[in-house]
Amino acid sequence: GKSIGTGTIQYLTHEMDEQFTRKLQLERSLFTALEDQALHLVYQPIINLKTKHVDGFEALLRWNHTALGSIPPDEFIPLAEEAALITPINNWVVIEACERLALWQKQIAPDLTMAINISPHQFQSDSFVRTLQHVVSQKKIDPRFVTLELTENIAILQTQRTIERMQLIQALGFRLSIDDFGTGYSSLQYLRAFPIDELKIDKVFIDGIDLGENGLLDSIIQLGQNLKLNLVAEGVETTTALSYLEATACQQMQGFIFSEPLSVEEVELRFGSSNPE
Ligand code: C2E
Ligand code: CA
Ligand code: CA
Ligand code: CA
Repeated sequence: GKSIGTGTIQYLTHEMDEQFTRKLQLERSLFTALEDQALHLVYQPIINLKTKHVDGFEALLRWNHTALGSIPPDEFIPLAEEAALITPINNWVVIEACERLALWQKQIAPDLTMAINISPHQFQSDSFVRTLQHVVSQKKIDPRFVTLELTENIAILQTQRTIERMQLIQALGFRLSIDDFGTGYSSLQYLRAFPIDELKIDKVFIDGIDLGENGLLDSIIQLGQNLKLNLVAEGVETTTALSYLEATACQQMQGFIFSEPLSVEEVELRFGSSNPE
């Protein structure tokens, strides 16, 4: 009859309304999130697979919304991009993470590194290079210890322009890494053309170890080794994965098996000089 489906449609419309309302609400509060100090960074340790020491940290953005609670970066970063709010937020992340590194190099270890996620939009913006220049000229940190993580998707368009920009950033002294490697578009082509220092092997390939599917992972490691790139395994959760990686040319790993992302206080408690580990 005529009425079949009406309920479903009303239900779906209601769902869409709710999603839309949430999106609007998030977008509106994102405008003031920075000044409200509702954004903060957490830091996940990056472990050396040979020495088992903490080589450095990856800075990860968190947003505590007063009404809606903790909003994951995968949800609010795309929103911020749409609303053109991403630039001030991203520039804040770079400066905050670099300042934290300067402090921790004094407190924890002088050669500690910091990895920072860079969105495609941020990478293309002029204020990004200015922010990096600002960080360098302040001389609080040596950019050799800072790795900027880009995704393969930055280079779908304007390949030449992207390469030039990467060269400029490297000339300032920063290291460049390809994040989520193996999940983007035409990875192999990029690898040859792009001036990069490191690959972060996406979690899907690490999860393969536990399923007995190591073929792609082995190829990526072989490739990275041939190109003399630093290799970081992401999302290591199991001892099976860890012991497999220990026997490969992969240099570093990150994952819940060692540590989740930590607050500043947690890092200082666990790794600070008063509590050496
Ligand atoms: P990503 O850069 O690939 O970061 C790794 C994500 O995996 C993080 O999620 C981290 O908490 C999670 N993770 C680490 N180890 C494990 C593990 O063993 N198991 C599992 N299941 N997950 C693990 P998070 O913090 O939710 O970040 C999600 C994504 O949001 C990041 O993926 C990155 O693309 C983006 N993001 C985070 N912070 C920033 C930022 O400051 N700027 C930009 N542009 N993007 C950011
Ligand atoms: Ca990352
Ligand atoms: Ca990643
Ligand atoms: Ca990811």
